[in-house]
Amino acid sequence: MLYTKVVEAYEKIEATTKRLEMTDLLTQLFKQTPKDEIDRLVYLTQGKVHPDYMGIELGLAEKLVIRVLAQATGLSEDEVTALWKKKGDLGLVAQDAIAARRQKPLESKPLTLAKVYENLDEIARSGGAGSQERKITLLADLLAFATPVEAKYIVRTVVGKMRLGVADMTIVDALAATFATKQDRAAVERAYNVSSDLGEVARLLASEGLAGLKKVGLKLYRPIRAMLCERMETLEEILKRLGKCALEYKYDGLRVQAHIGPKGIKLFSRHLEEITDQFPDLVDGLKGAFRRGAGIVEGEAVPVDPNTGEFLPFQTVSRRRGRKYDVEVMMKEYPVSLFLFDCLLEEDEDLTGRPYVERRARLHKALKENERVRFATYRDTDDVKEAEAFFDTALQIGGEGLVAKALNSTYEAGARGYQWIKFKRDYAAAMSDTVDLVVVGAFAGRGKRAGTYGALLMAAYDKDDDVFRTVCKLGSGFDDATLEALPKRLAPHRRDRKPARVDSKLEPDVWFEPAVVLEVLGAEITLSPVHTAGQDLVRPGAGFAIRFPRFTGKWREDKGPEDATTVQEIREMYDRQKKVAKP
Ligand code: AMP
Repeated sequence: MLYTKVVEAYEKIEATTKRLEMTDLLTQLFKQTPKDEIDRLVYLTQGKVHPDYMGIELGLAEKLVIRVLAQATGLSEDEVTALWKKKGDLGLVAQDAIAARRQKPLESKPLTLAKVYENLDEIARSGGAGSQERKITLLADLLAFATPVEAKYIVRTVVGKMRLGVADMTIVDALAATFATKQDRAAVERAYNVSSDLGEVARLLASEGLAGLKKVGLKLYRPIRAMLCERMETLEEILKRLGKCALEYKYDGLRVQAHIGPKGIKLFSRHLEEITDQFPDLVDGLKGAFRRGAGIVEGEAVPVDPNTGEFLPFQTVSRRRGRKYDVEVMMKEYPVSLFLFDCLLEEDEDLTGRPYVERRARLHKALKENERVRFATYRDTDDVKEAEAFFDTALQIGGEGLVAKALNSTYEAGARGYQWIKFKRDYAAAMSDTVDLVVVGAFAGRGKRAGTYGALLMAAYDKDDDVFRTVCKLGSGFDDATLEALPKRLAPHRRDRKPARVDSKLEPDVWFEPAVVLEVLGAEITLSPVHTAGQDLVRPGAGFAIRFPRFTGKWREDKGPEDATTVQEIREMYDRQKKVAKP
């Protein structure tokens, strides 16, 4: 098939914003494509050469492309760069530059889809010594024979910015319309959701028709598109809709699909990219935890403060994307734990069609928990009060809410439906003010903090009862020198047992007489069954807690403990937060 035919269609597709029109244009194109080339066409239309999970990606540096364009057209690199700055799209630059090229190729050989794919594929695959030169040759080889419009799409593809505006689901529609009927799109979509590989789906459809798609099943080391949740506003509504259901903590981290088998462990993100290298700690954890030969399990990876054991904001996970060195540093500073909530494959058995309760039971049998790999906390209930209390505990540990799951629900790959319903806290206003809290206890440090304190137990002042009630464990924001000096600095206030004016449910390693006041900034105020400040004020059994607290570095030596932030002030801050979110 000539590449020119392909780019003719791309030009028309690019010019429309209507999905139906796009589908029709794609369908016409697919119909003209030989069966053995359809997979390659589908990948190129997605702007890639392979499905994402394989990790074979285009994305040539713009600088290199500029060099090749200069060679191919006789322009200087500066001229090409100037054009690029003006147009902002290297594809358009290529189109113009090729149209005006000073050196015409000696012979003209029309490009085929196969040739374009072959060269792009090799560009994506080549690495190591000498690969730059090889990539340049391969691209130059294409541009030498490309028409201006062809050059536009080749360059866009090679720099990883195809921007055709065709969604995967539009390709699904067009494949159904080409090889079956529009009514069959559900079968095509299912095959895509399970395989995450539209090229493969197209190839099977073209060669074997709809029957071919039946062969598409769950496969080890090939990610399945994640099942997603709908949202509802109250727990009451959720329980009304699902009846007795499973409530699980909603962890605020990164979704991870782990494929474990004879060839080792591979981890995939929700966007189906392989992220194994970012989480050597999880790979080790899974190795130790998994009791079977093969399986696919799913969960959320959350960074944990090694000192307080509490969760950290999930952004600390995303910093793992760096070089190997960074990953190692981050791994020590912010270890992650994986909270597993589903099991999709066990040995050869595809469990996606089994009910949730069965998958959960299988998950719990297939692994033995360790520090890195744990099971998502859950509770089966139809009771609203119980659900609300459970929600509070989820927030307290640093979760962002609950996910309710229908007990008999199957795993619907790629689907967002009401089988899983998320319920998040209804406010997310940041705490804009710092608070001044009193040190009432400390927990012994571990690892890097052995010999000093890992975290301090902090309290607010309840002026009605003249006592100090806890609101958080504070472990962040201390520099090394401060940390080292902490035991000495706090020693004068140390007590063997809980001081009379301290109200705490937690039992720290060391108690302190309320005396030292520190300035603390938190992310927000949540309800907590663990802390005692404002207990029962908003909800029975729950007090206020400060989420993600951080020492600002300021010792409030000017303040006595009774000058600290009061429980009453924290309550006002909590109420204000709610108002911000719900005008
Ligand atoms: P959202 O991104 O707000 O739509 O919430 C859905 C995401 O929550 C999922 O993709 C998971 O990454 C995450 N999540 C956290 N805990 C759970 C859980 N127990 N069950 C399912 N998803 C969870």
